[in-house]
Amino acid sequence: MVSRVIPVDPFDLVIFGGTGDLARRKILPGLLRRFHAGQMTADSRVIGAARSDLGAEGWRSLIREGIEEFAPALAADRDTLEAFLERLDYVSIDATGDGGWDRLCDLMRPGAVRAFYFSVAPSLFGPLAERLHAHRIADRESRIVVEKPFGRDLASARALNRTLAEHFDESQIYRIDHYLGKETVQNLMAVRFGNLLFEPLWNNHYVDHIQITVAETVGVEGRGDYYDKAGAMRDMVQNHLMQLLCLIAMEPPSRFEADAVRDEKLKVIRALKPVRPHHIVRGQYDGTPSAPSYREEVGNPRSFTETYIALRVEIANWRWSGVPFYLRTGKKLRARHSEIAVVFKDLPHSIFEGDDRPHRNILAIRLQPNEGIDLTVTIKEPGPGGMRLTDVPLDMTFAKALGNGAEDVPDAYERLVMDVIRGNQTLFMRGDEVEAAWAWTDPLIAGWEARNDVPKLYDPGSSGPDDAMMLLHREGRRWRDIRA
Ligand code: NAD
Repeated sequence: MVSRVIPVDPFDLVIFGGTGDLARRKILPGLLRRFHAGQMTADSRVIGAARSDLGAEGWRSLIREGIEEFAPALAADRDTLEAFLERLDYVSIDATGDGGWDRLCDLMRPGAVRAFYFSVAPSLFGPLAERLHAHRIADRESRIVVEKPFGRDLASARALNRTLAEHFDESQIYRIDHYLGKETVQNLMAVRFGNLLFEPLWNNHYVDHIQITVAETVGVEGRGDYYDKAGAMRDMVQNHLMQLLCLIAMEPPSRFEADAVRDEKLKVIRALKPVRPHHIVRGQYDGTPSAPSYREEVGNPRSFTETYIALRVEIANWRWSGVPFYLRTGKKLRARHSEIAVVFKDLPHSIFEGDDRPHRNILAIRLQPNEGIDLTVTIKEPGPGGMRLTDVPLDMTFAKALGNGAEDVPDAYERLVMDVIRGNQTLFMRGDEVEAAWAWTDPLIAGWEARNDVPKLYDPGSSGPDDAMMLLHREGRRWRDIRA
């Protein structure tokens, strides 16, 4: 199936932090893919802005190397790569100083959509917003894209929102959560709201519980300074897992349109019950003879920061009352595996003699690897031998179902950047959503800090601490396997 690509309007995209890891690894390769697909046209430009005194050629070389390293298949098409690199310019700028801004101002073309990607530390968001405004580089139609982390608690998120609001309207602010840009996450909405089949069952009458898992195999990888002050709750749950929870639990919006969707997500966050201490399991990865422990890695022998967290969460509304949502995320786990699993209730009665195993339909939405959706259904075991039942997945792997190679499924960043240019905020977090998420998160963190809670050690390569298994076992449930 050949997908139709609609070119976006000509744009000038300025990437502050253009020499950084995120720009080289994700943003620029993503833009090249959109250029290759014809969605970014040759009259658009990408301007890198960072402190290094590189010049346009220097930045192009840096980006060429990044693409060769992180997107080698794309780099193989040299003509397209070179044509793309010609669209790149660079300006040396210090976010907190005054040099470089006039040149940036001169580079901006009238008529092109202006977008400014803040791919820098959050402490620079304010100074950047201020200078874009003061130098009249941003106009009322301009968009700014801000990266995570958006605050470290409610107070800092509010302060950040206030600072941005001094210079930009909410309709101009795109708070990125790359989980929302994943193909599967959007398909979750298509499956839920584009089929009659699921919505009647999507409630506490038919759903036993929901599991959301984001498991990583990597450790903190050089981000130790930041991570030790954040932990899994701030780094993953408050944003990514919370967003997934919202999409799975929200009421159908009246239209698939930014504020209609975000209003419904906000209602879910506001309906979250406080989580009891025994419904929270925090873990920290231990060392092995050949690998350092988390504490060794971050050089903090007394660190109580969690690299793993599992939570049992409830939503206080008619649809979900009594249905537990189990969330877990962690580093150095058995496999890189992210999914949402909607586990339906057992049959009220089995008519098949001798069939004493429970058969549950499970709708599993896989985010990575191998994005797709599968529905576990019960069928008869093939062949003779009577009516023996077995459970099999009805698999909808996107790459297979749509006849594309997996590499054709657009990456989250490239989709989100194109949404910014189109002015579509549906897949971005609104300020009040972020604040509501922190308002729910803050007391949980304050609670375990007050209790001096020490995270449980777990072996790297395992599924997390044993206590997390118990969180479900004591309710007669079990986590789904973490597997590649
Ligand atoms: P990085 O440290 O690799 O790059 C930071 C960039 O900011 C560099 O280009 C640097 O020159 C620039 N910079 C620093 N101080 C500056 C100043 N005063 N003026 C102008 N430019 C300045 O960081 P990164 O990994 O690219 O991350 C950038 C942002 O994206 C951070 O907010 C980070 O939390 C977020 N983020 C990164 C990732 C990732 O995978 N790297 C993922 C999610 C979010």
